[in-house]
Amino acid sequence: MLGYIACVDGSLLTDGDLALRPAGSLRNPWLREALADEGYPLPNLPLTRRTDADVVVVGGGYTGLWTVYHLLERDPQLRVVLLEMDICGGGPSGRNGGFVNGWWDELGLLRELFGSERALACAREVSRSVAEIGTWCERHAIDAQYRHGGMLTVSTTPLHDGSWRCSTDAAKRLGVEDAYRELSEAEVAGRCRSPVFRAGALMADAGTVHPARLARGLRAVCVARGALVHEGTHVRRIRREGSTVRIITESAAGEGEVRASQVVLALNAWAAGWRPFRRSLVTWSSWMVRTEPIPELIEERIGWIGGESIVDARFTVHYFHVTRDGRIAFGAGGGRPGYDGRIGRSFVDDLSSGRRAAAGFRRIFPQLADVRLTDMWGGPIDVGADHLPRFGTLAGGRIHFGFGYSGNGVAPSHLGGRILAGLILGTDEPITHLPLVGGVPRRFPPEPFRYVGARILREALVRREDGEERGLRPAPWLKILTGLPRRLGYHLGPD
Ligand SMILES: Cc1cc2nc3c(=O)[nH]c(=O)nc-3n(C[C@H](O)[C@H](O)[C@H](O)COP(=O)(O)OP(=O)(O)OC[C@H]3O[C@@H](n4cnc5c(N)ncnc54)[C@H](O)[C@@H]3O)c2cc1C
Repeated sequence: MLGYIACVDGSLLTDGDLALRPAGSLRNPWLREALADEGYPLPNLPLTRRTDADVVVVGGGYTGLWTVYHLLERDPQLRVVLLEMDICGGGPSGRNGGFVNGWWDELGLLRELFGSERALACAREVSRSVAEIGTWCERHAIDAQYRHGGMLTVSTTPLHDGSWRCSTDAAKRLGVEDAYRELSEAEVAGRCRSPVFRAGALMADAGTVHPARLARGLRAVCVARGALVHEGTHVRRIRREGSTVRIITESAAGEGEVRASQVVLALNAWAAGWRPFRRSLVTWSSWMVRTEPIPELIEERIGWIGGESIVDARFTVHYFHVTRDGRIAFGAGGGRPGYDGRIGRSFVDDLSSGRRAAAGFRRIFPQLADVRLTDMWGGPIDVGADHLPRFGTLAGGRIHFGFGYSGNGVAPSHLGGRILAGLILGTDEPITHLPLVGGVPRRFPPEPFRYVGARILREALVRREDGEERGLRPAPWLKILTGLPRRLGYHLGPD
């Protein structure tokens, strides 16, 4: 295998891969590109005074921005303030894998948790969001490179064959078989060639975007509609006082305060550091690498021209798509967990997790051994006990929240924004009655047990799934260990 160097863990990397370093505190390439389009704007000024608002949204990622957008769409007179400690899109919304996928591949789980009718309602609403993100980009002339190409789940080892069947069977039973249907090995190869691809399943309701251009485009539209956006503004404390909520902030320029009637916490993995949500989340990192532009090689050597995004069937999933400029953006889930809700350096500066993404790419596409990887970056994901997001309102009725996307939040955060706007405005509509709203997800154990458990599970999952890719059946102890979360009632890890 020309150009490869075998690493101690058995993965194959090139010299160039070994020289690649995580972005760390530097901006990831998606965000660099989006900021370059905008002419490298200065961040909006931080909040340094006392002010009032009808609604304060904390967090300038998709959840916060879609909430602002939907609020102002419904009531343009609302005084909406958005507070973001970095810049809008500086979090995972500006650095994710760009998958805008529906939930038909989750249909089996949704049905098990909520029953057939409510499962269908959830999946239909996420599909609506997949489509609406595309039409929203067109309507607002935001070139987020939205492409509706479907999503392919593929098995890359005989031990993962048919792992989609719980959802494809559910789709058949519920009369929506075209939403998520099985593909033979030949059909998969007709869409993308890899020596490790076997059979798979195709979800039609799925697209891809340039994630940072979507986040920054949303910011621009929200600002144009009158939202007051303060960046570099860290929300330190939130206090309920009678019919108002005080939001106390700090920034490099000083302290600030907003009094509002309602607050939305759109904090993603950072929610795990806030008391009411601390036990509802585990934070893990997800990692990405990106190739140089190789449009011709992608067509000639792997025949991947249909715009499908692709995931394998691992729990520590590999996910990849082709960008408009002909690069492959390739991600690997299952990075390291965080401790006690702290989102520290390991989420952006963890070479071994970044290299796992590179190794995944090399294993799946050996035909591209001579292609250079140019970037490596990571970020936190917010994993809930059942792998699904939750939206709701804390006691007192003024503080709303949405989190728990579990690394799959691009389309669901659009739905989240619609739901949160509905909760704030008190409208009675089908989406505010979805089972994702108001329910209390199962809690995780307190620290240090949560961290230790997440760490052990992560190592065991990686070991099991790496072995399965080499055709090794997991040893009984490894099977028991990786199956433990399921037995304890968490929907994490393999069945
Ligand atoms: C590497 C990677 C790849 C991914 N790939 C995909 C994918 O392909 N498809 C998919 O669907 N999902 C993917 N995800 C997940 C997806 O990015 C998230 O689910 C989604 O962006 C969540 O949006 P959000 O607005 O809730 O969170 P975020 O974008 O994280 O926004 C939360 C914001 O809150 C801010 N904040 C936190 N605390 C405070 C505070 N105290 N004061 C002020 N501001 C605060 C943060 O700075 C952050 O900007 C991926 C995630 C990662 C890390």
